[in-house]
Amino acid sequence: MALSFHCEASSIYPQQEQVNYRNKKCLQIVKNLIRKIGIPSISSSPHISLQRGNWVKLICGASFEDVVDIRNLSLVYALAGVDCIDCAADESVVNAVNEGIEAAREIVPFQRPWVMISVNDDEDLHFRKAKFDPEDCPPDCSRPCEMVCPSNAISLKDGVITERCYGCGRCFPVCPYDKIRAVTYVRDAVATSQLLKRNDVDALEIHTSGRQTDLFKELWNNLKDSIGNVKLVAVSLPYVGDSTVSLMNTMYSIMEPHLCCSNLWQVRSMIYELDGRPMSGDIGRGATREAIAFAVHLTALRDRPHGFLQLAGGTNVHTVNGLKKARLFQTTCITGILLFLFSLLYLFESQYFIKGFIMFMILTVQEYVIEGEISTVKPPGLLDALIGGVAYGGYARKIVGRVLSKMQSQHSLACVEDYPDHLLEALKEALALVGTVKCYDLPSELP
Ligand code: SF4
Ligand code: SF4
Repeated sequence: MALSFHCEASSIYPQQEQVNYRNKKCLQIVKNLIRKIGIPSISSSPHISLQRGNWVKLICGASFEDVVDIRNLSLVYALAGVDCIDCAADESVVNAVNEGIEAAREIVPFQRPWVMISVNDDEDLHFRKAKFDPEDCPPDCSRPCEMVCPSNAISLKDGVITERCYGCGRCFPVCPYDKIRAVTYVRDAVATSQLLKRNDVDALEIHTSGRQTDLFKELWNNLKDSIGNVKLVAVSLPYVGDSTVSLMNTMYSIMEPHLCCSNLWQVRSMIYELDGRPMSGDIGRGATREAIAFAVHLTALRDRPHGFLQLAGGTNVHTVNGLKKARLFQTTCITGILLFLFSLLYLFESQYFIKGFIMFMILTVQEYVIEGEISTVKPPGLLDALIGGVAYGGYARKIVGRVLSKMQSQHSLACVEDYPDHLLEALKEALALVGTVKCYDLPSELP
């Protein structure tokens, strides 16, 4: 018996040693990778990212409440350098995000990304859950609902796993028996106000349907006493046709008195989230088009309200390319001015006159002509980017979620940093996405 124990122990021990060695090595690779890339959030603030147009936000989901996944997603994307992590206005979810951020900071010290909580003023797609009673389902149903769910939120036994459902709605139309219904809700303003007073909550996002500003005003009035604690207020709204800009201006006029009276005005910003095609970034390339079209439309307007613009809804790895094609990626007014001066240098050199003139015309047209409309573009400031950045939701969760699911299938509910090989794999996915906006110089062959 003793021999047998000894034999088992001696055969397990070297294996454990190997695992420990491999884990240590992977963790060191993670640290080296982050240092080598030079993640900007280590040295610069989220506010600067907005001004430069390289702001990246991870959307955990206004309704997604799986705290294990949220913690691990926050850890991975914090390491990848996001400026902000947006989550449900729920205490346990906020705790999970902060725990993930702190675990990431123990691996590599860096500036904390902002934590943003999301609320709604009215019924909104982001604030709903699917529900059905599995007992009512015909036993021969092929369960298409389970297959389309991007969040693995439907189980054979329990029906919808509430905390994993983020309300994307894909399961509703596929049920041949019409068994699935949507349960909508509005986040409690009093509880949200309490959360905003926490030191580890930095920003607020208000989802509004744009149908009526009375509800927006009511929510704002309920939250205004805690607004002084946040660094950023974001408003997420859909494109509602020609009235979009006047709606934005009305909302800004409701908020402005309370934003101005704060002595934090220097660091507080307004940000408008251009919600193209909600919760669809994981579907494919085309999903990002609506958010870009929305951005093109708004940046071309003279009278858009003060504030940064950020893309969301359908955003994915193709979004930055779309912005580049629309000449909106990290474009500022000053770009045009500097290029104008550069052109003048050419003009002084007589042999370069024609070349300089042509260059000036091209650059001017590039800067001010968007989708055929000539406009005087008005960014938040001369040096600020026209588009502050991009928020990634479903797509970001999908690419890292694949790795987290694999880890959980092997190790059950686990902290990703305890399995550095999985952490490294997840980080590579996150860096590839965040890097499209942050312009990381990723090594040609990632370890
Ligand atoms: S498909 Fe969407 S709405 Fe349906 S359960 Fe899954 S996450 Fe929820
Ligand atoms: S598709 Fe409809 S009937 Fe079939 S398992 Fe899903 S909810 Fe039940």
